[in-house]
Amino acid sequence: MRAMQLALDGESDAEKAFFVADLSYVFRQHERWQKCLPGIEPFFAVKCNPDPYVLRLLAALGTGFDCASNGEISQVLRLGVDPSRIIYANPCKATSFIRGSAKSGVDMMTFDNTDELYKIARVHPGAKLVVRILTDDSKSLCRLGLKFGAPLVSVPALLAKAKELNLDVIGVSFHVGSGCYDSSAFADAVMRARAAFDMGKEAGYAFTLLDVGGGFEDGTFEATASILTDAISRYFPNREGLRIIAEPGRYYVSKAFSLATNIIARRAPPEPEKGSQDVEMDPEQPSVMYYINDGVYGAFNCILFDHQTPQPYVLSLSGSFHVPASVPLRASSVWGPTCDSIDCVCSITQLPESLQVGDWLAFDNMGAYTVCAASQFNGFEVSNVIYTTGGGAGAAEVRRALKMFVDEAVDV
Ligand SMILES: *Cc1c(COP(=O)(O)O)cnc(C)c1O
Repeated sequence: MRAMQLALDGESDAEKAFFVADLSYVFRQHERWQKCLPGIEPFFAVKCNPDPYVLRLLAALGTGFDCASNGEISQVLRLGVDPSRIIYANPCKATSFIRGSAKSGVDMMTFDNTDELYKIARVHPGAKLVVRILTDDSKSLCRLGLKFGAPLVSVPALLAKAKELNLDVIGVSFHVGSGCYDSSAFADAVMRARAAFDMGKEAGYAFTLLDVGGGFEDGTFEATASILTDAISRYFPNREGLRIIAEPGRYYVSKAFSLATNIIARRAPPEPEKGSQDVEMDPEQPSVMYYINDGVYGAFNCILFDHQTPQPYVLSLSGSFHVPASVPLRASSVWGPTCDSIDCVCSITQLPESLQVGDWLAFDNMGAYTVCAASQFNGFEVSNVIYTTGGGAGAAEVRRALKMFVDEAVDV
């Protein structure tokens, strides 16, 4: 609250933007997962948010991890996680990375093309392969099918090649697209996975793994879980010997992080002179520009990369946490701190007209695909994270889980 005064007094970090991570939220999402999808093991998609405390907590809770690079694999292994709890779920890997995973004992990995099979046969012939199939990703924010996934028609040839190379294919994976807003996409994908299982049998394999990928959304989770469960019992009525895993990312962390930003500058129209006529302002056009100290090159890269539209709310107004409901609003725009005009956080929103430099704006749902892809463009540092175990349900469990790491002095 006293950020402005402290900054005037020479305190360098007082104004800095910061995340608040409520780890008990991650814990509760895990409980919710276990309740709704008890037969499906979650492998957290590290790329979504590789925060060290999120990873520690999930490691303690016993989830697996979906990694896409040697860097992510090392980060997870350093937590003391057994390599069997990792799936290397990037279908297109550098040969050196495949060799690295062989060295560290990570065997489970995805593929969707023959070149990958040749590479794997050369440097990791003992790998447990999972064929990533293409599914309909048109009902999702971030379509992944443009880049990955073997169309079903190509699967028999892929499996024949794998057999010829003496490789062990253990199952099928898919990803319906990140931020999937149509739960029925999962049912369609499970149906296609069933077809791929049958192709596996034709090729002489007995698949034992179904990986239903990521794409789970907080708001539609129960509906998705129920559609997915129904589809699995329909297409895989005999669950015996079948292991089902998933690669949720966003679901676990999206709502766990909020971001507090300081208003570092403002451009407002000149105050009308006394006695002059009020200038008519177009309420549809932002008349005030606020500049905050995180932007599109930082945490708000999610606007560009993850197609998000973050909405600010007032954390402090005129130096007080109390924001009266009656305060008059003005159409405003919110900008990041860099010198690039693409750095617009919110092109129009209603904010109190008395909002000033030194006040704070906050944003919720900032846990997925934000801090992990933030850059330091223009010399602006990435915002720090402040952790809380929350006051409500799960706080004690989170503290207990994290204490394990302190006791064992595990290095992250
Ligand atoms: C990004 C990604 C995920 C996580 O997706 P969410 O939509 O965040 O759940 C899972 N698996 C793979 C292979 C991915 O690329």
